[in-house]
This record gives sequence, C-alpha cells and structure tokens, in this order.
Amino acid sequence: MATRNSPAKSAVLELVRIRQSLAAWYRRARRDLPWRHTRDPYAIWVSEIMLQQTRVDTVIPRYGRWLARFPTVKALAKAPLDDVLAEWAGLGYYARARHLHRAACEVVEQYGGELPADVAAVRALPGVGRYTAGAILSLAFGQREPILDGNVIRVLTRLHAIDEDPHASPTQERLWALAAELVADGDPSEINQGLMELGATVCTPRRPACTACPLARQCRAHATGRSETLPAPSRPTRVVAVEQVSVALVRDDKILLARRPPTGLWGGLFELPTDERRPGESLDTAVRRVAEERVGLRFDSWQPLPVFHHVLSHRRMTFHGAYASVDRGPVRRRGYDAHRWVTLEAARSLGISRAMDRLLSKLP
Ligand code: SF4
Repeated sequence: MATRNSPAKSAVLELVRIRQSLAAWYRRARRDLPWRHTRDPYAIWVSEIMLQQTRVDTVIPRYGRWLARFPTVKALAKAPLDDVLAEWAGLGYYARARHLHRAACEVVEQYGGELPADVAAVRALPGVGRYTAGAILSLAFGQREPILDGNVIRVLTRLHAIDEDPHASPTQERLWALAAELVADGDPSEINQGLMELGATVCTPRRPACTACPLARQCRAHATGRSETLPAPSRPTRVVAVEQVSVALVRDDKILLARRPPTGLWGGLFELPTDERRPGESLDTAVRRVAEERVGLRFDSWQPLPVFHHVLSHRRMTFHGAYASVDRGPVRRRGYDAHRWVTLEAARSLGISRAMDRLLSKLP
C-alpha cells in the first residue's frame, strides 16, 4: 500500500533534494574563478569585498594583483593606507579598501594576523557585514553560516514565490532563515556558492534559464509562470543632482592634489581641489572660490576643461573642471589632510577616484 508523507516530512525531503541538486549542479557547472582555488580565509575575504560592488571580469585581474602586493593580512596591515587606496584605484566604493585595511590592522593586533573562525569576531571587523561573515566562515572554514546577497535573494524569492519586497526587513529575516535552512546540512561551502552561482549564471534578473535550472522542479515561481516578475521591485532610490567644481592648479609642470579626510565619500583619496558649486554661483566665481577656500591659491586666468557627468548610486554629478597656472605661495588646506605637487603621471598612480581619473584625462 502506498504511504503518503506528512507535510513536514515532504518539506524535509524537498529541502534535501534542493541541497543535493544545487551542490551537484555547482560541482558540474561552476565557473573557474581564481578565488575558488583557495581556502585561505584572507584571500576569500579579499575576493568577497572586491566582488561586493564590482563585476567579476573586473575583479579577476585585480584580485591576483592585490594578493601579489599584499599576500597576507600582516602585509596588508603593514602597508600605508595611501598605497592600499592606490592599489584599489578604479574598483570604486573606496570605503571597502579603507575598511579592509583597518580590519587587517585589527586582525594583526587582536588575533596575530589569522582571521578567527568565529562569526561574531569576524562580524565585528570593519566592513564585514552579515553576508561577508557568512561567506568567509562557510567558504574558508566550512561552517554552517548562511549568506544572502542580491543573487541569493533572487533565487530564494523565486524558489519560494515570495511576493513581498525582498528588502523590507520582515522579508529579509524570512530570506535569511531560508538561507540558513539550506546550509543546515550538506556542504555549506558548495551550497552557498551554488546559490550565488545559480543567481549569477542561470537565475538571472531577466530571462532566467529555467529549463537549465537544477531547481526547476522545486521552484514555485517557475511552476506559476512568475520567474520573470519576481522578486518584486523595491522602491527606487532617489538620485540627487550635484554640480562639482574641480581646479587643476599647475606650478613647475606639476599639479596640486589634496587628500580628503579618511571618512565619507572618497575618503582618504587624492583629488584636484574640489567643491560643490553653490546655487546661482557663476562658474568663474566658483572656480576662484574653490582654489582660494580649499587650498589658499589664486590666479589671474583659467581655462575650462570639458564638462562630464559621473553617476554614483545616489548622485548624478556634473563635473566642471578648470585649469590654471599659479605662482609661488604656500598651500593653505581647508577640509583636506595632506597635499602633493605631482606630475600628471604620478597623479594617476595615487589613490584617486574614477571621477578624478576621468577629469585628469581631460587635462591638456
Ligand atoms: S527555475 Fe527559474 S526562476 Fe526558479 S530558481 Fe531556477 S532559474 Fe530561477
């Protein structure tokens, strides 16, 4: 006589099938990425931080370069922050590099340079959130810690046909619980990486490849024709328009770069003296004010640089660049914590933002 499983038993069996299918698919279909050849917690940590807001293709060469330059936590902690930011240049979201450096110093001071295999200790490090801690602990130490990033959110909301805004806090807690349920058995490293890989390559935001998906039989969104409409869109973020004025001050074929304070947007990075243009301010007034207020320098005439736009997640910046020769006279910084007169070539090898790099490329 055929026996029927109770709902609870069916749910457990379904979970087992999901884990098995996901792990088997991951072993078979995963991309060969450099950080998948290591279990070194530091190397995994670096890859996770780099991958947070940067595309895989961009990260691959930079990850290898970073590990060649800072091969251990101790090497990173010993390096000056300026060198660390210069090595990060072009990857964007520089707070990640500042945090990584500070966290490396803490790991050296508190744990002798070895990342602790303890989720609370790892989460207490600067720049390490719940997701990154889960990734380090599960991938490097094989611990049963869940992860939840954009890819995993997409897979789980579709798999369970969750209609609510995935970024609302009750939904987030539900998703974390579902992610934890998945790593409660099996190999947590394979399951977590399988979820991320599935979201990145199969369960993509548009046109998910459901026919090639190892979870298609268990997926409720697929069963109900909602694969492309889930997850529900979150409220759009408000983008603020900002006008920036940057002045390239030249003396003896060198330009002046000043370093921003360590916190806030582009903290710790060098830039041409820059400030926001005030409402109603003429460009000439703004250019002269920025040079005088920010670094205490004046000039008779200046040349404009081509205007360009630079978009960050919450800001659409319009950069008005200017170029002027200045005579002798001391630099009096306001709102900067260091400055250097450097050649254009040397300027581009300092830690500078991508916006500043674009601006420097427009200099005559
Ligand atoms: S079946 Fe489709 S929607 Fe469901 S998890 Fe797989 S790819 Fe995503």
